[in-house]
Amino acid sequence: MSAPLKISPATLAKLAKLGIRHRTDLLLHLPLRYEDETHLTPIANVQVGETVQVQGVITHSEVVFRPRRTLVCRLQDGGDELYLRFLNFYPSQQKQLAAGRQIRAVGEVRAGYYGMEMVHPKCRAVDSDTPLQQSLTPVYPTTAGLSQATLRKLIGNALETLPLSDTLPDALLRRLCLAGFAGSLHLLHNPAPDISARTLEDRSHAAWRRIKFDELLAQQLSMRAHHRERGKRIAPALAPQHRLTGTLLDRLPFALTGAQQKVYAEIGRDLARPHPMQRLLLGDVGSGKTIVAALAALQAIENGYQAALMAPTEILAEQHYFKLREWLEPLGIAPVWLSGSLKKKEKRLAAERIASGATLLAIGTHALFQNQVEFHKLGLAIVDEQHKFGVQQRLALRNKGVEPHQLMMSATPIPRTLAMSYYADLDVSVIDELPPGRTPVVTKLVSDARRDEVFERVRAACLAGQQAYWVCPLIDENGVSAKANVSAANVERSGRSQSEAVQLQTVIETHGMLCAAFPELSIGLAHGRLDNAEKARAMAAFKAGEMQLLVATTVIEVGVDVPNASLMVIDHAERMGLAQLHQLRGRVGRGAMQSLCILLYQQPLSELAQARLKIVFESNDGFAIAQQDLQLRGPGELLGARQSGVAMLRFADISADEDLLNQARQAADELLRDFPAAAQKHLQRWMANRHDYLHA
Ligand code: ADP
Ligand code: MG
Repeated sequence: MSAPLKISPATLAKLAKLGIRHRTDLLLHLPLRYEDETHLTPIANVQVGETVQVQGVITHSEVVFRPRRTLVCRLQDGGDELYLRFLNFYPSQQKQLAAGRQIRAVGEVRAGYYGMEMVHPKCRAVDSDTPLQQSLTPVYPTTAGLSQATLRKLIGNALETLPLSDTLPDALLRRLCLAGFAGSLHLLHNPAPDISARTLEDRSHAAWRRIKFDELLAQQLSMRAHHRERGKRIAPALAPQHRLTGTLLDRLPFALTGAQQKVYAEIGRDLARPHPMQRLLLGDVGSGKTIVAALAALQAIENGYQAALMAPTEILAEQHYFKLREWLEPLGIAPVWLSGSLKKKEKRLAAERIASGATLLAIGTHALFQNQVEFHKLGLAIVDEQHKFGVQQRLALRNKGVEPHQLMMSATPIPRTLAMSYYADLDVSVIDELPPGRTPVVTKLVSDARRDEVFERVRAACLAGQQAYWVCPLIDENGVSAKANVSAANVERSGRSQSEAVQLQTVIETHGMLCAAFPELSIGLAHGRLDNAEKARAMAAFKAGEMQLLVATTVIEVGVDVPNASLMVIDHAERMGLAQLHQLRGRVGRGAMQSLCILLYQQPLSELAQARLKIVFESNDGFAIAQQDLQLRGPGELLGARQSGVAMLRFADISADEDLLNQARQAADELLRDFPAAAQKHLQRWMANRHDYLHA
C-alpha cells in the first residue's frame, strides 16, 4: 500500500476553498463530468456541439490581435482542418503549438468564423504511437491554480491509502438494493474501461445513488444528533397555568379552530418541559398564527417569565404590537415596543424596561436581537416569518443567559421533503385549516393592455365601500424582481440600493397617477422609506376605513391584516416569485366578503413567469404552491435565510430523490437504534469538513 502524499500549504489552502479539509473529503470530491479520451475522432467526422478528442499536425500557428490577442492554430488530420483558439496563453504553450508539432486536443467543437474550431482545448504533444487512455477521465470541480492533474493525483492517493470500509450493515444494503461504498467511489473516480460518459453522468446510476443515499443519511443523522443534544440543554419549565390564557380565550370574539387548538396544545406541552423548545409553526396566510403566538407568550408570562415577539419588518411588528395590546392590555399586560427606528432615548428606555423585568412582553424588529438588549428573564422568543431572518440573529438571542424556548412562525409552507431534510432538527406544528367564514379569493390574470379596465374596477369597488391594495414590485438593476426577502429586509436595514430607489419611484408615480385619476377617492401610500409615524398613520387610516385605496410596495407582503380589504391589484406580477404572490394575495380574503386578486402582467412573458402565474392562478393552497415552487426553483431559495446556516446537499436533490430521502430517514432511525457505532462513523466520514453542521 502506498503512503499518503504530502500536500503543500499552498495546495491545502486551495483545497480548503473547495471545502476539502480532511483527507476523507478528497474521497467525496466527486467528478462533475467525464472526458472521453479513450478514442480519437477523425476531424472529418466531428460535429458542432460535441466534445471530442482529435489528433493531428499543426500546420499553421499565429498570434492575431483582432479583436484581442489570440493564438490561432490550424490542426490537420488527413485532408481535414480544425482551428484551435486561445485567448489566454503562455509562451510555453505557444511553443508547444508551433507548426509541425503533432498534438492531441480535447474540446467542444464550435462553428467559428473560419470554420469549425475549439476554444481553449486541452492539448498535449504526442507521438504517433502514444497510447490512448484506457478509461474515461474524470473532471472535478476546482478552483483557480489547482489543476485537474493535481486533484486527480491527490484523490487517487486518498483512494489507495484511506480505509473505504462500508459504514452500512450488509443487511441494510441488501434490503435497500444499494451498491457498496468502496465500489461506488472507485467507479466514479476511476471508471472501468467499458463504461460511457453518458452512463456515468446519469445521476440515477447505482454508484451515484449510493453516494446520494449516504449524503442524505449523514444529513439525517446530524439533524437527529442536534435534536438530541437540545434535549440535554436546560430551559425554564413553563407549565400552563390557564390563568391569563384562559381569560384571553374567554374574551376573544371568536373560538379557536380545531387546528389552532391542536398546535397550541403542542406548544404548551413543549413549554412545560425543562428543555428548550425549537418549534416551527406553519400555517398558510390568514390561518391565525398570531393568536397562537399570543397564547404561548401568555403561558410564559403567567409563569413569571418574559416573552419576546419579533417580526422582520416595522409594519408587521407594529401590527403585532397593536393587536397584542388590544388583546393583552385588558389582562393588565402592557407590551413594550422596540425597533431600530426609535430615537436613541426611547430605545434606551425600552431596553431598560426589558432589562429590569418591568415589562414581560417585548415586541419589535430585529433590534430586539441586538447586544444592548439584555432580557431580565426571557422564557420564550417568538419569531414571525422566521425565514426572513438570518440564522445568526436567531442564535444571538438564544445565547443570552438562560436559554429561552423558541417558536418560529412561517406562512411559507415547507414542502414535505424540505421539512424532512433541512428542518428535521426542529419540531413542526401545522395549522391546516382556515378560520370559518372565509370565501376563497378569486384570482384573475389581466394583461397590461387592459390596465384602464382595471382602474375602473378599482374605482367601482372603492365607491361601493370596499377597500383595495395596489402593489408595486421591487425591481432590481436588471429589471427583474429581486427576491422577496430583499424587499422586506433591505427597506428597514440599511443601504439604499438602486433597486429600492426605482421601486420607490414606481410606487410614488403610481400613487400620483391614481390620485389624479380618482380625485373622489382617498388614496394612501406605504413604502419602506416613509418614516414610522407616516407609515403607521397610513396603515391606521387604511385599517380604520378612512382610506379606500392603499398603494404600496411589497412591504405589505408579510402579515398585514385588514379584513375589509377585498381587492388587490398586483402590478407587474410577472416579476414576482410564487411564494411572494401567494403571500400578497393572502392580504385579501380575510373577511366574509368575496375577494378578488388581479395579477396585472406585462407581455412578453418568460417561460418561468408564465409557469408561476399559471400556478397561482390555479391554486389557492399555500402547500401545493410551495411544492411547485420547490420544483421550479430548487431548495436553495425556498430555504431563504436558513440556507446560509445549513450546508446544502451536494449530490442529492430532494425533489428528484424523495425515495432515497425516505429510505435515509428510516435508515437513520435503524442505525441509531441498532448500530450506533456505524452511525458515528458515517457522520464522521461525511461531516469531517464541518465543525458544526448546522451553524456553519
Ligand atoms: P396569519 O396566520 O396569516 O398570521 P392572522 O393571525 O393575522 O393570520 O389571522 C388572520 C385573521 O384571522 C385575523 O384577523 C385574526 O384575528 C383572525 N382569526 C384568527 N383566528 C381566528 C378564528 N379562530 N376565528 C375567526 N377569526 C380568526
Ligand atoms: Mg402573520
